[in-house]
Amino acid sequence: MRAMALDAAARSVRLESRAVPTPGPGQVLLRVAACAICRTDLHVVDGDLPDPKPGVIPGHEIVGRVVTRGEGADRYAIGARVGVPWLGFACGECRFCTRGQENLCDAARYTGYQIDGGYAEFAVADERFCFALPDAYADIEAAPLLCAGLIGHRALRMAGEARRLGLYGFGAAAHIVAQVALWEGREVFAFTSPGDTAAQDFARALGCAWAGPSDAPAPVPLDAAILFAPVGALVPAALRAVERGGTVVCAGIHMSDIPAFPYAILWQERVLRSVANLTRRDGEEFLALAPRVPVRVSAEALPLTEAPAALARLRAGQVAGALVLVP
Ligand SMILES: [Zn+2]
Ligand SMILES: [Zn+2]
Repeated sequence: MRAMALDAAARSVRLESRAVPTPGPGQVLLRVAACAICRTDLHVVDGDLPDPKPGVIPGHEIVGRVVTRGEGADRYAIGARVGVPWLGFACGECRFCTRGQENLCDAARYTGYQIDGGYAEFAVADERFCFALPDAYADIEAAPLLCAGLIGHRALRMAGEARRLGLYGFGAAAHIVAQVALWEGREVFAFTSPGDTAAQDFARALGCAWAGPSDAPAPVPLDAAILFAPVGALVPAALRAVERGGTVVCAGIHMSDIPAFPYAILWQERVLRSVANLTRRDGEEFLALAPRVPVRVSAEALPLTEAPAALARLRAGQVAGALVLVP
């Protein structure tokens, strides 16, 4: 099969011919229909995340159809459409798993990082960590729900009841979170890269109350902010933008260093926290919610072999919505 595999020296991926993988016990073999590109894929190829599987095939927002099933795998029928997210395995037994935090599992393994992912014509996945997908979404629209949507959903829950919500970095995740937050009756304020007026226009078109550059002060005090941009300097900016008692959620897996900041901007019970990975419960909740909103996904389909160019565009910030590879 054709696969785009990690080329660590080039900080990119390259086309390789790989054997079609064989599903082990409890696994399904999927023919990949679509795989969205996530900023985390950039962190994998850039070496920001330690110890990827050598030559790993990235991609953890996979939509595929079951081709064959390994021993004991009976959750999905042959031909069923399923989604594969970032969390590819959790042990189910450690202190985190047993208290509902499988996203923090000691032995967790992640798709497209330690397990080969979806930048390929086929992929195998543990059926227990796959999701059934809502019929309302075409393959390329469903793919970005699997990380941009799921992690965004978890981050939004961590932001609590915030009525005025700031989103820093307006890409694939933020464009989905904004729609859910607006549907919930919140006001949304979009902070983009300075000069990215296209993203600001996109945010306003979705219904955001305000959109502007991330180095501008918030037009009104916010109740919470979610940071999707991997820029540590935005942490003090967001703390300054939230009111007393407000929450700042860092939703990315990697961020540049956070500069020193005065205690006064954290004081008054402001909360600074991160969000890591996802649980299967997050996935089930969000995939039930998305068609009710309904979340509309802005996705641009690209051939598999354009993965290097797509990653470069994401690195340069030249993407509104989500990029999706179609093998
Ligand atoms: Zn565990
Ligand atoms: Zn992701």
